[in-house]
Amino acid sequence: MTEPPLDCLVIGGGAAGLVACVYLGRFRRRVALVDEGKSRLGWIPKTRNVMGFPDGIAGKDLWARMREHAANYGVTAHVGRVERLARGADGIFDATSGKQRWRARFVILATGAVDVVPELGGLAESLQAGVVRYCPVCDGYETEGQRVAVLGREVHGMRESAFLSGFANEVTWLSMDSHASLPQDALAHLRERKVAIAGGDPRHIHCAPGQGVTVEMHDGKRHEFDVLYPALGITHASELATALGARAQEDGQLEVDDHLQTTVDGLYTAGDVAVGLNQINVAAGHAAIAATAIHNRL
Ligand SMILES: Cc1cc2nc3c(=O)[nH]c(=O)nc-3n(C[C@H](O)[C@H](O)[C@H](O)COP(=O)(O)OP(=O)(O)OC[C@H]3O[C@@H](n4cnc5c(N)ncnc54)[C@H](O)[C@@H]3O)c2cc1C
Repeated sequence: MTEPPLDCLVIGGGAAGLVACVYLGRFRRRVALVDEGKSRLGWIPKTRNVMGFPDGIAGKDLWARMREHAANYGVTAHVGRVERLARGADGIFDATSGKQRWRARFVILATGAVDVVPELGGLAESLQAGVVRYCPVCDGYETEGQRVAVLGREVHGMRESAFLSGFANEVTWLSMDSHASLPQDALAHLRERKVAIAGGDPRHIHCAPGQGVTVEMHDGKRHEFDVLYPALGITHASELATALGARAQEDGQLEVDDHLQTTVDGLYTAGDVAVGLNQINVAAGHAAIAATAIHNRL
């Protein structure tokens, strides 16, 4: 006899997926979680904007606590990558990872996003030491009094530079000459905020804990900074949903309704895969909304 389908399959066991599992577990739903184990939580040296941890907490420790929390309601992750998500004529979702297969009435896709990273030696150590940072919303506060470089093109690099000028002592936008394509009022805004612009292509960027950041430009100029923010973009890991026909923007960000349902009925999403404001609190909020919407439909 074939097993009845799960109430919900959660794909991705980072912040969003684990919160969804706690909610669904506490709703006494039949739920399974599949996770490849590459959460962006694992990169966070110390997060200081998650409530309940006034002194901050390392991303890895928070992730371990979240996994323990979900396990308290009977949900532990199957380790693996879901390679294929399909839907049968009966409306049941069918997911496969290697030889394993799950069938579920609903799916929450919580597969996160992947940062576009620059070519830098020692990136992992520099991230841990706060010499390289990815998330101005998360840790711009920590750059007070520091010399910050933002490496990014066009509007993205410009906005991140302007944002950081509210915290750091000096901000330099490494624009790779893309500032030339921006309207004059955007450049005037940067001048008002005292953001310096270093055009031209960096030839070599060296970052190391305790040594800061040295940028050598192709014309031979050298710049020294305390912190580098790459602002090269992010790719939302939404391929499983788009393969099923879900609508997404060019960078993979999924179109969702107020309950985080994608344009495919029954396929919900939560966390970085779904929005631009990539934050743990946002991921948790999404997961709570999506899990409750699914519970109410079962
Ligand atoms: C350096 C850094 C610092 C940050 N600092 C902060 C901070 O201080 N505060 C804050 O709020 N946020 C911070 N963030 C952002 C935060 O980490 C993310 O917003 C949060 O982890 C998003 O949760 P998520 O569940 O959407 O994605 P993730 O936590 O990234 O989890 C996604 C999971 O899905 C898995 N997965 C992907 N595809 C598949 C598949 N096909 N099958 C199975 N599993 C899959 C991945 O392996 C991963 O485990 C930071 C991020 C970085 C990189």
